Amino acid sequence: MAYTFKGGIHVEEHKNTRNSIIEIITPPKIVSIPMSQHIGAPCTPLVKKGDHVFMGQIIGDVTSGLGCPVHASVSGTVIDIEEKSTPTGARIKNVIIENDMADELSPDIVPFEKKLTDTSFDEIVDIVRKAGISGMGGATFPTYAKLQSARGKVDKIIINCAECEPYITANHRLLLENPASVINGIKILLYALGLKSAWIAVEDNKLNAINKLEEILAGDEMISVKVMKTKYPQGDERQLIYALTGKELPMGKLPADVGCVIFNAETCFSIYSAFAKGMPLIRRIVTVDGDCITNPKNLLVPIGTPYRDLIEFCGGLKKQPKKIVNGGPMMGFAQWDVNAPVTKGTSAILVFSKNAESPYEQPPVCIRCGRCVRGCPMHLMPNYLAMFAMHGKIDMTEEYGVMSCVECGSCSYSCPGHVPIVQYIRVAKGEIKAAAAKKAALAKADAKN
Ligand code: SF4
Ligand code: SF4
Repeated sequence: MAYTFKGGIHVEEHKNTRNSIIEIITPPKIVSIPMSQHIGAPCTPLVKKGDHVFMGQIIGDVTSGLGCPVHASVSGTVIDIEEKSTPTGARIKNVIIENDMADELSPDIVPFEKKLTDTSFDEIVDIVRKAGISGMGGATFPTYAKLQSARGKVDKIIINCAECEPYITANHRLLLENPASVINGIKILLYALGLKSAWIAVEDNKLNAINKLEEILAGDEMISVKVMKTKYPQGDERQLIYALTGKELPMGKLPADVGCVIFNAETCFSIYSAFAKGMPLIRRIVTVDGDCITNPKNLLVPIGTPYRDLIEFCGGLKKQPKKIVNGGPMMGFAQWDVNAPVTKGTSAILVFSKNAESPYEQPPVCIRCGRCVRGCPMHLMPNYLAMFAMHGKIDMTEEYGVMSCVECGSCSYSCPGHVPIVQYIRVAKGEIKAAAAKKAALAKADAKN
């Protein structure tokens, strides 16, 4: 029987690209590389306007603290360094490179010379950090730091291939088209952490990928496939851990606190590429879909490519667009600029028309049906959270556990009254975080005086 968690909802899958092989996009003329594509400190640019850069060259790095470098995804000339908005709206420096179409690889890119079994943990951490690898499922936590924090604390690696968001099939295609590289990445992780067991968690709507993995892994005693029930948000770390181990991850705790560490499938692929070829994270797979896209596809895209290029490669728009989303429709971020770049965390670009949006024109209203409560994977009361936030009662949202909300959007999706619950929740969480930051700053200032 397939593993699953309590709560959650069934969403329309729209996996239109499940049979679309990964195509390499036409090389972009210009790429725009944001200096922050990970959780942690932003990078400082290491190049200046007019510099020639090689493909794979480090062009920005963090000077201290959490973070990993960014690389040029094409060879060419730096034509500008300018501030642009990230997919979440923050302003960050971007290195703009004009592609010379020569694909001149950086001389620093060479395969790691030692065998895996002769490699130390610190060397693996260094390879992963230098390759600029951060979680490619969307969370973008630097992978080297995840390895460091998991060492000695975990006994199980979980590879998250649930891909439970509608439309996105990038991981599914990777498992079908290059499972060996994903498995090799998992072997590196197992060796690095000194572990003997990894589970690849795949939802049961990807049976061909499950069969392929089981065929390759037949007789492998360390890596096995776990079939997950297709349910949203199965790919949320807390739900995955509960479904597979029965352990609940308490609020504010990390998977390592319950003995697990979770990596995305494409992250494993990137770890193997860094180790075997010396290749940093300069490309990723992006699903391009939505009812406006003429030919939905899965594309292999250089980091920094504008959304516009992806849309054009898919035959352009066939309808008037109303909304562009970076990521899935449930947890992705609405975008306002088609020239914004693909980053390490971009798993999908979705373009929707007005018709794909809710046709509901009435003001939102709660009819107290309780559907949002039944579906909440965090066992919250989303209707109350929305009501408190709507009336500015932020302290009450905190009391009702708003900070435990993982913003999966299940409540908003299933609400027949079309209450934008998760938006209210995001506002409340933002206010609570801002108040906490202000309090901490005041305390710090007081301590200095
Ligand atoms: S309250 Fe948060 S965790 Fe619960 S369903 Fe809504 S968005 Fe998901
Ligand atoms: S699903 Fe919507 S209508 Fe039903 S209780 Fe929740 S907020 Fe109210």
